[in-house]
Amino acid sequence: MSEVLNFTPIDEIEKIRDELRSGFASGKLRDIAYRKYQLVRLMYLVKDNSVRFEEALKKDLGRPVLESRMLEIHPTIGEAKTQWKNVETWAKPSKPSFNINFFAMKPITRKEPKGTVLVISPFNYPVWLSLGPVAGAIAAGCTVLLKPSELTPHTSALMTELISKYLDHDVVRVVNGAVPETTKLLDLQWDHILYTGGGRVGRIVATAAAKYLTPTTLELGGKSPVVIDPKTDVRLAARRILWGKTVNAGQTCVAPDYILVPRDFQDKFVDALKEVYEEFYPDAAKRSAVSDSYSRLITPQATARIAGLLERTQGKVVFGGEVDKDTKFIAPTAVKDVGPGDSLMSEEIFGPVLPIVPVDSIDDAIKFINEREHPLAIYVFSQDDQVKTKVFDRTQSGAVVANETVLHPGAEGLPFGGVGPSGYGMHTGQYSFDMFTHFRASLDSPGWIDAILKFRYPPYNDAKVKA
Ligand code: NAD
Repeated sequence: MSEVLNFTPIDEIEKIRDELRSGFASGKLRDIAYRKYQLVRLMYLVKDNSVRFEEALKKDLGRPVLESRMLEIHPTIGEAKTQWKNVETWAKPSKPSFNINFFAMKPITRKEPKGTVLVISPFNYPVWLSLGPVAGAIAAGCTVLLKPSELTPHTSALMTELISKYLDHDVVRVVNGAVPETTKLLDLQWDHILYTGGGRVGRIVATAAAKYLTPTTLELGGKSPVVIDPKTDVRLAARRILWGKTVNAGQTCVAPDYILVPRDFQDKFVDALKEVYEEFYPDAAKRSAVSDSYSRLITPQATARIAGLLERTQGKVVFGGEVDKDTKFIAPTAVKDVGPGDSLMSEEIFGPVLPIVPVDSIDDAIKFINEREHPLAIYVFSQDDQVKTKVFDRTQSGAVVANETVLHPGAEGLPFGGVGPSGYGMHTGQYSFDMFTHFRASLDSPGWIDAILKFRYPPYNDAKVKA
């Protein structure tokens, strides 16, 4: 329990779930107009209180206002708006293509809400990864229990206060807490679980969900590599990579985790990266925080973990490297000549440290990626279409992106999700709506069909078999 955030008493959790079940059973969410009303309220929940959210995010993550606005506040309002704008279309029953055998039975896919769903969200984008899925669940007609991260107490407390003010009590509820509260939630039956966070807890969630065969979406992490082709605008690549690595102090699930660069191009890339570093943080990142340009790590433990990886590296630090555990500060840091067995390659870094791994060729880089777990994203920087196509076609990952980093989860209409160890299922936009929707097959067969299909009834005989 933190001073800021009141954890929900464990013995109240089942009652809260039951109230949400009653909210669903009341049938009020069948009315699309009611869903839209809740979505408008959700939009205003964020819009009216955007400054309070920015302040809370600053307290929890030391997050610069521009980053909170660009990567959290606007995308959350945008997601609620997208759900609001499209819910009628997405909720409409759909007809399969014409089939002579079945058309008279009026085959239709009904888009029905799954019921009462659980959303467990992480600390790194605590608003977007909580309220974005809540918007999808409301649009789909579900009631939803949100369990935000205990590591962002100011933001979680604010969401708890505002959800109870803006949204109906039997439609959206919040349970706050850490492992015991989440364990209690996972003991209960849900109609869908969306979990966003690390793979270790992802396995706990999937195991708990299996008890009731609850459909589950796991949005996990991993080490997302960047492949650098020498045929690239190296300054542009350095700028976009360093931004992707330092935004939110590297605590982004799709942050570039490490670089694969042909050996003889490494120094040119490192020089460009250094220039960009000086351009981004002229007074060093620590001082830039004062001018609102650089976040902090989430906890002293996270700071110590990343500092430990850095202490044990066999690579050469080319810039950064400063650590101040008291203020949860780690400077943006690049490390070159990192080998595959290095400490920095042993786990997802989830912080502002960028290892650069020299390889012999682009083919070698692809081999390196394919020998490891499928990541959430793969990036390639190249002006050569053949190189881009090669990386796109010969690898597997949640997403694959050329000449950009980190922005793709915000691209409207694209699915956001992993593959294999980076997770399963996908969300945002229509993918969220679909995740919380049961696609219910239906037919309504007229009596006259038996004039054609009567042969199916026993007793069977040779004439029927030959017909
Ligand atoms: P986490 O797994 O530590 O925590 C996420 C949630 O799980 C929190 O709400 C937490 O209270 C709960 N939790 C923690 N331990 C638990 C336990 N033993 N039993 C039940 N619940 C428990 O993740 P995090 O540190 O908040 O986030 C970082 C990870 O999330 C990174 O790996 C990152 O890549 C990943 N991530 C993925 C995405 C995505 O969309 N794929 C987005 C953001 C973050």
